[in-house]
Formats: sequence, C-alpha cells, structure tokens
Amino acid sequence: MTADFTGRTALVTGSTSGIGREVARQLATRGAHVLVSGRDAERGAATVEAIRSSGGKADFIQADLADPASVQQLAVRAIELGGQVDILVNNAGLFPFAPTAEVPQQEFDEVYAVNVRAPFFLVQALAPAMAERGNGAIVNVTTMVATFGLAGAAVYGSSKAALQLLTKTWAAEFGAAGVRVNAVSPGPTRTEGTASMGSSLDGLATTTPLNRVGKPEEVAAGIVFLASDTAAQIHGVVLPVDGGRLAV
Ligand code: NAP
Repeated sequence: MTADFTGRTALVTGSTSGIGREVARQLATRGAHVLVSGRDAERGAATVEAIRSSGGKADFIQADLADPASVQQLAVRAIELGGQVDILVNNAGLFPFAPTAEVPQQEFDEVYAVNVRAPFFLVQALAPAMAERGNGAIVNVTTMVATFGLAGAAVYGSSKAALQLLTKTWAAEFGAAGVRVNAVSPGPTRTEGTASMGSSLDGLATTTPLNRVGKPEEVAAGIVFLASDTAAQIHGVVLPVDGGRLAV
C-alpha cells in the first residue's frame, strides 16, 4: 500500500541535501506540501524546483538551526506557508568525527545545537498544535552510533543518543493526544555529507550484514513509512535502516 499524504504539510529539516532531500521528494510524490529547509538557498531552490517540475508542491524556508532565533522563525514561517504542520522530520544533522581530546568546545556546542537543541525547540513550537488537532507525526533521524560506541563519534553519537531518548519521551508526552513520535537510525549512507569520508564509509559498511553503503532513498523509505498512517500503531520506536548493523 502506498501511503497518501494529500492535504498534509511536512516540514523536513536538512532537505537541501542527502537523506532529507530524498524524504522531501518521496513525501511530495505522495501528495504532501513539503517545506524544504536548510541554510543554502541555492540548493533549497533546486530541491523545490525538482519537486515542482515533477508535479509536487514545495516551498523553501531558509534557516540556520545552530541559531535559536532562526529555529523559532522556521516554525513560524512553516505555519504561515503550510497553514499548519502535520509532519515534522528532524533530519538536519552535523556529524564530525574526531577523538575526544581534539574536539573544540565550539564544535561540541554546534553539534548539540543542530542535533539536539533545534529538534527540541521545533517540537516545542509545533507539537502542541498537532496535539490540539489530535493528529501529527514526528520522525527524528539519529544514527547507528547512538546505540554502540565508535571511537571518534563521542560528540556525534551522544547527541543522537539524546535525540533517541527524546523520541521516546515525546512519544510518552504527546502519544495520547494522537501525535506519533518515532526515529530512524541510519547506517552508512552515500550522501553529499559523507562524500568526504571516502573509503572509510565503505569500511563502515563492511561491518554490516548487507555489506554495502546504503542509499538515501532506502533511508527515506523508513522515514516516510513512520510518518504515514500505515504506522498508526507505532509510537516511540527507533527503526534501524542500517543494513543490519545493530543486529550483529
Ligand atoms: P548531508 O548530505 O550533509 O545533509 C545535511 C543537511 O542538513 C543539509 O540539507 C544541510 O543543509 C542541513 N544542515 C546542516 N547544518 C545545518 C544548520 N546549521 N542549519 C540548517 N540546516 C543544516 O547529510 P546526510 O548524510 O543526508 O544526513 C542526514 C541526517 O542523517 C543527519 O542527521 C545525519 O546525522 C544522519 N545520518 C546520516 C548517515 C550517513 O551515512 N549519511 C548515517 C547515519 C545518520 P544546508 O547545507 O543547506 O544548511
């Protein structure tokens, strides 16, 4: 069964690139009005143009999620453009890898601002209205390294582990009001963001049963499923879309 999002508005953070852009495309293909967001206006316009030229509905909202004022503005603008926000995909993320001894404080703060603080305040701004309407879906994008220890992933992994716990907390907080909150935990996936990792991305993929790097559309499929009414009974899960890495 193909999920139908006709009449729904979806805000997808970090949808100027990679996994988020593919989520935006898949949601728009299924009828959603997609609000594409990121810092890069040129990539945002290209994403919107691609969706519109395939007959979909999309608008771009520029936002820097490291800036709390910009996060608030994003929520306000999303409601202005969409009328309401029915689906929120907290996908934007920073994933620098470095030994703990070498992490500058500024980098720690920026990763936590984008990966934890921004989703927190977007949910604060948007989930209560979903709860009042008795309907909404939130999908957070985490990572397999939020579940197991990987040297070099202290800041990144711990920030996404916070987002995984927030997923469960929000499911408990908003679930009774009809708002479902879930997460997808991707494994190594080929995107613009991982291009600089070169062969180490393929090296990570060899640790998965699937034994290959994932594709953005494969991760997006999991996110779109959790955002859909097909997942009506599913609250507070973290769905691994990682070639089986968390199974072994
Ligand atoms: P990507 O290609 O680097 O895309 C990241 C997106 O986040 C871009 O659209 C970027 O937009 C946006 N973004 C980054 N910083 C931002 C900021 N300060 N304000 C607003 N937007 C910002 O990344 P990806 O590989 O698709 O990853 C997407 C998500 O999946 C991330 O949360 C990542 O942690 C997670 N993930 C990825 C992998 C993987 O192997 N690719 C594995 C596990 C988890 P602008 O540049 O336009 O600002």
